Amino acid sequence: MIDAAVCFAGFIGVAHAGLAQCRFPQTPNEQTITYRFDPEVTPAGLVLHLTFLFRAGGDGTETLVLPMQWAGETLHAMTNLRVVSKGASLEKGADADSMIVRARPHRSVVIAYDLEKDWNGPLVNPLQFHPVLMPEYLEFTGSNALVRLKLDDRAIETANFDWQALPTAWALATSFGTSASTADRCQTYTGSWREVNEGLYAAGDYRIHPFQISGRPAFLAVRGTWTFSDEDAVKDVQKVIGMVRNFWHDDNFPYFLVTLSPYDRDHDSSDGSQFTNAFWMFVSRLDSINGLFPTLAHEAFHAWDPGRMGMVPTGYNEDLIKWFREGPTDYYAQLLTYEAGELTASEYVNSLNIALRRFPTSDDEYVRGRIISLWLDGTIRRESRGQHSLDDVMFDMVRTGDQPYTLDRILATAGHYLSPESDALLQQAVTHHGDLPAPEHLPVLGDCMHALLDNVSTFDLGFDFDRSRTTRMITGVVENGPAFNAGLRDGQSLLGNSFNKGDPERIAKFKVHSGAGDQQIDYYPRGKTIQAWQYHMDKDKSCELR
Ligand SMILES: [Zn+2]
Repeated sequence: MIDAAVCFAGFIGVAHAGLAQCRFPQTPNEQTITYRFDPEVTPAGLVLHLTFLFRAGGDGTETLVLPMQWAGETLHAMTNLRVVSKGASLEKGADADSMIVRARPHRSVVIAYDLEKDWNGPLVNPLQFHPVLMPEYLEFTGSNALVRLKLDDRAIETANFDWQALPTAWALATSFGTSASTADRCQTYTGSWREVNEGLYAAGDYRIHPFQISGRPAFLAVRGTWTFSDEDAVKDVQKVIGMVRNFWHDDNFPYFLVTLSPYDRDHDSSDGSQFTNAFWMFVSRLDSINGLFPTLAHEAFHAWDPGRMGMVPTGYNEDLIKWFREGPTDYYAQLLTYEAGELTASEYVNSLNIALRRFPTSDDEYVRGRIISLWLDGTIRRESRGQHSLDDVMFDMVRTGDQPYTLDRILATAGHYLSPESDALLQQAVTHHGDLPAPEHLPVLGDCMHALLDNVSTFDLGFDFDRSRTTRMITGVVENGPAFNAGLRDGQSLLGNSFNKGDPERIAKFKVHSGAGDQQIDYYPRGKTIQAWQYHMDKDKSCELR
């Protein structure tokens, strides 16, 4: 039947897989919603036509939540939102992100809208947080592309996805199934609405590679050309996810998807984000995958923190808990990668030292959270004389994952393993930017390293890089600062840059153009001197270091 449809479609010049829509099983007792996707390639690019079907509630009104912002980005991809059903109407909601539908009680309602790429120019970080809609492929999440019903935190829904109208040559890879052919383009999922909203949806010229992680099915959906083979990518993803599942002693993943898509730039940019049963990787097209081990491990770790540690209550101030979502995740991503032999001891310690230098003055939750995690791990090991570690806190959080993911619960769980004095230090560090001493011995590396309070430079480029990058013109150069002393001046055109963010000991390089022609300006991005803990390798102790 599909073949006939393809043939017919080919005849009329529309490359659709089948004209028939999916037939989904009836689920009368549950909240059931259906999304239908119909991509159209126009001279201006891809337009994705969506319809969203749901049943109006007992009072005939439903609140729709619109994908207007996500991950710090404001989105303009959605246009043409309208009601298709007769007798139903749409009006403005309480805020810009919501609309109210009025319909007859219990009746089916269909709304429709279009999605189009909402930026010009190349795909670079952070534009992957917008729905990526290209003539060759699309990749988005529920949060940035799908209109949804406003439901209670714990509401369960059945979501149907009709992908029948995708071009025949396209592969489909989502949180709820993967298919390299036109088969299996009708997907159904029953679960928390959040899992649909946090779902990953990709389709297009992806190459689909099925593989296994400890006997459990997984898929890599990869597109573009790389400096490594698809097989190498599969091997690395398999190794990293296997390593993280080993740490958690948890193989309970009936299905898992990883997508790998190139940015339109050559080097030094990557983003991993975690979704329901999935994570995506966007990576500069000429970078190797080996350098991504800690990033892959970080994304894999999120399946537990926060994935299996409980829900953040709606309306809860996420700033309070971000340090615990990103901190232990980053701490373990690096530590497990080191333990797997994919980082040397000096690479591992160097990355910790960079974070330790930034810790006293930084507001970055990744930096703050990673060092708080280091301190917690070392302190728990010391105070329990090696009986416990941060691992216990992490496992306890998963064991009590039916409770909400809040700061109170995190502090109570960690506090269980701390002396009253250390508990007070932790609270101070988390809520009042308090300082923390580095553990005398580095967990896992043990006696080979010792911590010293050193005088170190803070990282300071000496000009406003973010603004300069946006305007492509050097701006905000501080007189007698490191950039100024090296010869950077306001008004020079910024042609290129390379530096290691946060690392004042790595030379920063800028290519600029001014009246004097093109110039390469290199310098150490060193700011004021502060005291910070740094680990040093003990030369006189025999350490088994890789
Ligand atoms: Zn993260």
